[in-house]
Amino acid sequence: MAIHCIEMLLDLPEFRLIGLTLGDQRIDLHLQRQAHAIVCPRCQRVCERIKESRTRSIRDLPILGRPVMLWLHMRRFQCKPCQLRPWEVSETFDERVKWTNRLYCRVRAESLQGGPSSQLARRYGISERTVFRWTYEKSRGGRPRQLGRAIGIDEYARRKGHHYHTFIVDLDKGEPIDTFNGRRTDDGIAWFKSRSQQELDRVEVVVLDMSKAFYAGIRAIFGESVQVIDRFHVVKYAVDARDEVLRAIQKQLDEDEAKAFKKLRKRWLKSKDQLDVEEWLARHAWRHRFPKLREMLDWIQDLRSWFDRTYEKPAREALLKLIERARASAQEPLNRLAGTLDRWFESIVRYIRHRYTNGPTEGFNNKIKLIQRMAYGLRNEHNRRKRILAGCGKT
Ligand SMILES: [Zn+2]
Repeated sequence: MAIHCIEMLLDLPEFRLIGLTLGDQRIDLHLQRQAHAIVCPRCQRVCERIKESRTRSIRDLPILGRPVMLWLHMRRFQCKPCQLRPWEVSETFDERVKWTNRLYCRVRAESLQGGPSSQLARRYGISERTVFRWTYEKSRGGRPRQLGRAIGIDEYARRKGHHYHTFIVDLDKGEPIDTFNGRRTDDGIAWFKSRSQQELDRVEVVVLDMSKAFYAGIRAIFGESVQVIDRFHVVKYAVDARDEVLRAIQKQLDEDEAKAFKKLRKRWLKSKDQLDVEEWLARHAWRHRFPKLREMLDWIQDLRSWFDRTYEKPAREALLKLIERARASAQEPLNRLAGTLDRWFESIVRYIRHRYTNGPTEGFNNKIKLIQRMAYGLRNEHNRRKRILAGCGKT
């Protein structure tokens, strides 16, 4: 019974459990392949006669809080007709494997989430050194990865509001390329200059937010035609302008009205089917009462749907029209948006062709914040970098 349960837990259908020892420090599970015979690789006949066997050990995930060691009893058969003595081979574990992949992934994930290595080592029955090695072996020792065709750039604060760092991501592979100190034009230029020309030539798309320093740096290195402004940043500018309008209206209202107005907080840009009837009616009424708000909301909706366009030429004209509309408005926030969009026009339009966003970059940015919050060990700049490069890639 117990054996059957453990076999279920192990989930290694190639093997059956032939024995176990429950130690205080460790559980040893002895396994043998299910098959009773193998096919002779030379003469293709079935050999059942066992000549000898040897064991190999593989670490696995703990059971009931105790580290587990799998002992594979691998047999050597003897082929009578041709005298060959072939060893059996496992389909599950490669020749030299010393631990299961699931153990590796678990330890790595927990370590990157901030589990102290001494504790992990004890829990999983491995050395601290191994925890460290597994955690960082994909960080390439903190060396940057090669630039790809499409890269995303973003910045993050080492501590809130202080000391900014830049972060470069391969948008096709979803992997971090490097992170370096500073976020000024010179910092960016210096970093890119340190890459080989061959690498730089590969870059066709650079996705940025509308930060002027990066823009200048990228233009200096790659020329005019590679930048794409992240669509979410464009929309965010518009949403900030909307909030200004909302605040201005709220000031004109008495307390009760302001409360009702505030209730719609996140619902001003939702589509009709995301609202219940009451919300929709309320929004309709407010829009009717404040034409300025209506104008702003309609404009943002149009900007958002602009990004769904497929063809560059009509998109270009449509964006020009949107800018014209904002410029002609009597509202100052809309005029300002017109100016911003106008300034970044080409880089915004390029989105239609490439369709890259800084989504992965933003995701890594959140992970970096998490990594930095678990502050230990990160005072060492090199370790911090390694951790970021190891923690943000695909696991
Ligand atoms: Zn044979």
